[in-house]
Amino acid sequence: MIDRTAPVGSSGPRQARDGSAARAAARQAGYCVLCDRVVERDAGDGCPAGHPAEAVTGRVVLGDGEAVPQLPRFNLAAFLIPPLWGPAHGLWVGVVFLPMWLFADSILRSTGRGAAGIAGDVVVVSVTLVMMWWFARRANGLAWRRVCDRVSVAQYVRREKVWAALAVPLAALLLGMALYFDLVVLPARGT
Ligand SMILES: [Zn+2]
Repeated sequence: MIDRTAPVGSSGPRQARDGSAARAAARQAGYCVLCDRVVERDAGDGCPAGHPAEAVTGRVVLGDGEAVPQLPRFNLAAFLIPPLWGPAHGLWVGVVFLPMWLFADSILRSTGRGAAGIAGDVVVVSVTLVMMWWFARRANGLAWRRVCDRVSVAQYVRREKVWAALAVPLAALLLGMALYFDLVVLPARGT
């Protein structure tokens, strides 16, 4: 779907400079939802890969020769604690992972120890992890797009480093509590 052969970045500014200095001074970048990255807007206000202007959000003014700022490809906090990270970034879809985790947990507790049971466990855990990974891959673009008129890419990346530092111990705590509940509390109750 994404045309990777299309010229990106390098040819744009050069063409603009040949045409007029004024256009070169007004270089702008935005997040293209179809490319899933920050791109320099072309002469038609769209994406250099040929996507229309409607697909591009935000207007980061670029200085002469300044590179297009890039968002990290993966958000660790979005991966580890999507039900918290999502709503905090206006992405309420992250809450979906809460019932998903509860479902996976109930499957892991209820299935038998035979080959079929283990296969079922592997499928449920794999699907859950792939969904979490997919959300974490799209998270930065979708989150920055919502605040791009007031938060620069650099500011956003700094904030997400704090989120990542908090997410690791929090995820470990949640996982520890779940294991304690499943392996200690429930067996003691005889369920
Ligand atoms: Zn694009």
